Amino acid sequence: MTMHYISTRGDVLSSPRKTFTEILLGGLAPDGGLYLPEAYPRITRAELDAWRGLSYADLAFAILSKFIDDIPPADLKALVDKTYTAAVYCNGRPGGDAREITPLRWLEPGFALLELSNGPTLAFKDMAMQLLGNLFEYVLAKRGETINILGATSGDTGSAAEYAMRGKRGLRVFMLSPYGRMSAFQRAQMYSLPDANIFNIAVRGMFDDAQDIVKAVFNDHAFKARHKLGAVNSINWARVAAQIVYYFKGYFAATLSNDEKVSFAVPSGNFGNICAGHIARMMGLPISRLVMATNENDVLDEFCRTGLYRPRGSAETHATSSPSMDISKASNFERFVFDLVGRDPAVIRALWAKVDAGGSFDLAATRYFADLPQFGFVSGKSRHADRLATIRGIYEKYGVIVDTHTADGLKVAAENCLPGETIVVLETAMPAKFAETIVEALGRLPERPAAMQGIESLPQRVEVMDIDADAVKRFIKRETGSDSGG
Ligand SMILES: *Cc1c(COP(=O)(O)O)cnc(C)c1O
Repeated sequence: MTMHYISTRGDVLSSPRKTFTEILLGGLAPDGGLYLPEAYPRITRAELDAWRGLSYADLAFAILSKFIDDIPPADLKALVDKTYTAAVYCNGRPGGDAREITPLRWLEPGFALLELSNGPTLAFKDMAMQLLGNLFEYVLAKRGETINILGATSGDTGSAAEYAMRGKRGLRVFMLSPYGRMSAFQRAQMYSLPDANIFNIAVRGMFDDAQDIVKAVFNDHAFKARHKLGAVNSINWARVAAQIVYYFKGYFAATLSNDEKVSFAVPSGNFGNICAGHIARMMGLPISRLVMATNENDVLDEFCRTGLYRPRGSAETHATSSPSMDISKASNFERFVFDLVGRDPAVIRALWAKVDAGGSFDLAATRYFADLPQFGFVSGKSRHADRLATIRGIYEKYGVIVDTHTADGLKVAAENCLPGETIVVLETAMPAKFAETIVEALGRLPERPAAMQGIESLPQRVEVMDIDADAVKRFIKRETGSDSGG
């Protein structure tokens, strides 16, 4: 049976169902919705029992095979094996075991951290992005096509994309970042890459200015087609699919048998990570609750508590010390609401007509909101002072230094924990990435993995530009040359 993907907005004329590789390189469905499996694969007890002992790569192959059936199994296996090896996830912190890819670290009985940040850029986005790089290269080679990826970043996503795509055949990356707004470490991470297919553009402005340029370039449809522009943003289905795997891995690591239940706490921004947890739960993984943590930008917490979804404008977005969660419009949220409203695309069209017009919607008085606990969701919010107190408290109690985003997850997990419940908190970045706040909390610098020592002194390659979409277009044109992406 073929696995098909449908749009959450369900316009079958403009957005007919597709296979995995047909949606891999695209973004939104033509009707403006997000792609999801027509039905979630259900996992049997026998499968769960058989999967318990698998390595990360074998487990990833077993799970991804349920979602990807238009790549020959032997090829998919090779891609997954190449992605999830200790050689890639080897940043190795003291006491860690990179061979496990996502080691579980117990803080105390019933309370654990799942380390997702052992990849090349020290944040969990590598988990999915590394696979995406290998899938893109494979599919482009099969079709004899090329792609030029264009994006804007305030840090984590852009570096994860560059490290996943560097040196890959058939693709180039053009990544815009706000000039002088990233930390010296983040700049060094991106700008020191020597690969000929990676282009860094620093814009003399803020992240939003960089984002606006990207939108303007994509809106020039002729330019976009001629230069084969593509994106790797957080709505990409393959990224969500790849993230499902570590919920299974974390569940097996935290339990002795498949009769037990586990809750996961997830530091959330664009709702991609926790969306994967929701799907793992829908597949039948025995997840008790999904504890969603936000920072000062609490649009998702507000929805969970009140039923009101009110995306904020960029002027209302706070710049916080957990910056990768500074999001006021959660791009993957539509996938979850699709399930919440019984997969009725007419309801989604009506709700997102309001969101797309800059408004909000309120489910408080509906039966959908009454169903929210059935989906296991609870939420909470963490502020800068909570973050500092948590980083301090965790260090004093367990001798472990956590990053600022993970601290938000730990804070909200601790205040929501039920007696007897096992909670696994997803660790989304290494503290070395956010050293400034660690110093503020602990008065000392976090350790840096050996591979990252002294990267600030490596030579850097970056093109500095004004806030000017035409200048960016000229640059892309020049660098892609006459072959426009060959
Ligand atoms: C991206 C990111 C998040 C938020 O994840 P979403 O999938 O956007 O909800 C949390 N922590 C870190 C370190 C991140 O890079």
